[in-house]
Amino acid sequence: MLKINKETFKKDYEKKFLEMHGTELAFASEQSKYETLGVLVRDYVAGMWLSTTKSYNENNEKQVYYFSMEFLLGRLLGNTLLNLGIRDMCKEALAELNISLDSLEELEQDQGLGNGGLGRLAACFLDSMASLGIPGNGCGIRYKYGFFEQKIIDGSQIEAPDNWLRSGNVWEIRKADKAEIVRFGGEVKVEDINGRLAFTHINYEPVLAIPYDTPVVGYENDVVNTLRLWSAEPVSNEFDFSSFSRGDFLKAIEYKNSVEAISQVLYPEDSFYEGKMLRLKQQYFFVSAGLQSIIRHYKSNGGNLKGLDEKVAIHINDTHPTLIIPELMRILMDDEGFAWEDAWRITKNICAYTNHTILSEALEKWPVDMFRKLLPRIYMIVEEINSRFCQNLWNKYTGQWDKIHRMAIIADGYVKMAHLAIAGSHSVNGVAKLHTEILKKQEMSDFYYYYPRKFNNKTNGITHRRWLLKANPELTNLLKETIGPSFIKHPMDMEAFERFSNNKSVQEKLHDIKRNNKVNLAEIIRSNQGIIIDPDSIFDVQVKRIHAYKRQTLNALRIMDLYNEIIENPNLDIVPRTFIFAGKAAPGYFLAKKTIELINAIAEKINTDPRVQNKLKVVFMENYKVSLAEHIVPAADVSEQISTTTKEASGTSNMKFMMNGGLTMATLDGANVEIRDEVGDDNIFIFGLNEREILDYYKHGGYNAWEVCNNDPRLRRITNDLINGYYSPDREKFKTIYEHLLTYNDEFFVLKDFDSYLKAQDRLDKAYRDKHHWQKMAAVNIAHSGIFSSDRTIQEYATGIWGSEFLYKNL
Ligand SMILES: *Cc1c(COP(=O)(O)O)cnc(C)c1O
Repeated sequence: MLKINKETFKKDYEKKFLEMHGTELAFASEQSKYETLGVLVRDYVAGMWLSTTKSYNENNEKQVYYFSMEFLLGRLLGNTLLNLGIRDMCKEALAELNISLDSLEELEQDQGLGNGGLGRLAACFLDSMASLGIPGNGCGIRYKYGFFEQKIIDGSQIEAPDNWLRSGNVWEIRKADKAEIVRFGGEVKVEDINGRLAFTHINYEPVLAIPYDTPVVGYENDVVNTLRLWSAEPVSNEFDFSSFSRGDFLKAIEYKNSVEAISQVLYPEDSFYEGKMLRLKQQYFFVSAGLQSIIRHYKSNGGNLKGLDEKVAIHINDTHPTLIIPELMRILMDDEGFAWEDAWRITKNICAYTNHTILSEALEKWPVDMFRKLLPRIYMIVEEINSRFCQNLWNKYTGQWDKIHRMAIIADGYVKMAHLAIAGSHSVNGVAKLHTEILKKQEMSDFYYYYPRKFNNKTNGITHRRWLLKANPELTNLLKETIGPSFIKHPMDMEAFERFSNNKSVQEKLHDIKRNNKVNLAEIIRSNQGIIIDPDSIFDVQVKRIHAYKRQTLNALRIMDLYNEIIENPNLDIVPRTFIFAGKAAPGYFLAKKTIELINAIAEKINTDPRVQNKLKVVFMENYKVSLAEHIVPAADVSEQISTTTKEASGTSNMKFMMNGGLTMATLDGANVEIRDEVGDDNIFIFGLNEREILDYYKHGGYNAWEVCNNDPRLRRITNDLINGYYSPDREKFKTIYEHLLTYNDEFFVLKDFDSYLKAQDRLDKAYRDKHHWQKMAAVNIAHSGIFSSDRTIQEYATGIWGSEFLYKNL
């Protein structure tokens, strides 16, 4: 443990400040105070980081490498202090220097290198691996620009670049001496050398991959793991301008720009795939650099590559890093002289793949021509993997051409990344029970019947350190007072809180804590956008990526309906509600951007209508990101998890909300099913079509949106309000939404679930009136949230997939 107290900390801080800024604290800017603290904390971490690395090497422990194109870390200062166990001490010490730790923490730029749930999951996993003492490394891309910054202007989303490195990044360390070369394009020369084929990659374009390492601090356990993000640079960065003739000079600039483009920007598409060459380049870039550095480190530590699979586990987070499989084959065969069979056995033993979605528009497949041109040697290897795979299929399914064609890795001019990931991994997992069952029985059933033992479930989780201890200190204190602090290291111990669910005084404390968090959020909303909201209204929250399957439109339609009802019946007896939305739409996703415009149009109309002021408010908060979520989640009474059943693989914000005592309004989709199983039907609000009904509609048809609409006067009216000028003088403005719902027969069953949704909202309204009973339900949710800590998830990955010996040591 760190041995610092308040006095030494204050001295260290003042000394560091002088070193860095050459001036006195009294005249300093807030930014310089933040930077000083960041650098000081990084220095505190440095010793532990080194000793963790050394001990992993000395004990020759199996290392896990979590490859992910996205890591949505958010801010690091607060959680690093928390995990070091010095946050409270630092807060007091800084206060004595007239510095507010909370305001310094708010100055940090979010590290927003991810789109949403998938990237946030990777970040929670890093925190859990370090906190469980698992030798786990993150491997990804250091995008110069992260997920775009969203501005709402006249109700519409405008995208601005996220220049997150503008004022530097105190957490990363550039490791120029650990650079690798990644090779693109060119040709493969094949020679027969003493009866063995040798493959040489020639005329390629080399790219220098520079790693930037960020420490990942475990919770009060002296463990510091590493997140390694790769940045692309030209092989020679120094341009000697005079030595270039004109043609060469332009070529050199072109080369420099094309190389730097690789790690320039994160693609802002979530659950959507586009066959862009640059994206394929990004994928191979970080996969190749990451693998080369793993092998280099393994060899320098004295390892024999024959035993690589005993000491290395590689996780493939969605199909984005699937090129790991052919790249590892390449290194083992071309560089290390392994025979195909040996290389293939080692590769399969090492690799494991997680599927994150069944949406067909998200499944990656690369055009063969593009793939072969960019990665000629890798393509040859994929072809060979495919031909051996198809041969095996033929042996089992002789004559069943359709099935073999469906399962092939290369077919119809495309390389199918999910098929490659399944064939080359020893484990394929879904991210919630329902999702895994759908993978096995529907989406990947061919593969499941071929490889039944590869498939398994690992229900997602969230780190309770960020989402409870850090985001909700008051609730954390209540838990400590009632059940003691053991839940911090063992989140399942939160179950003991259920005994307090009937305790009136605990219920009142829960109410007060929630109200304080609501007051805080109300103040953020007031200061950001000037809207005054009532902390005694129900805070009804839907925050997540804007996507048709997540059905923000269902929420919008019910608000439109409620508004109509109140206008018609001013005495309507409802608990006042504040509807809070946040989320980004992919820049090219027209329907999603229209959904944001609709929510803002509804907000504008409702918030300026004096007839409903004491009952309704609608707020769309700009630029949803991790640090904003940390303010929103603890303040929510209601968590809207209303995706079309079967479409949300797991969801993780559902878990964040329940852990903070928000009650869930949900379809039985993704992990909502498991939340329901944990808390019981009495402590959650469930509505909508179930899995069987949805799959039946998809299979046999029979859904008619017009019919549903025509049979419900409320729906007739609100769908009409979309196109009659009620929400915009421009009648065309929301026509796309109207057409999606009706003309194109609404593939997400928004209208079909409308009535059931409203009934569930009615039940919720009634339930909220009994304050004590509501807090009892909240308490049950909190008590049962421990199982959704990512510590549980990571333990399951470690024992069930990574085969990690360390667990027995740490459990
Ligand atoms: C948790 C989280 C998500 C995932 O939300 P879902 O509702 O599960 O889709 C997305 N973005 C941010 C910033 C998050 O913190």
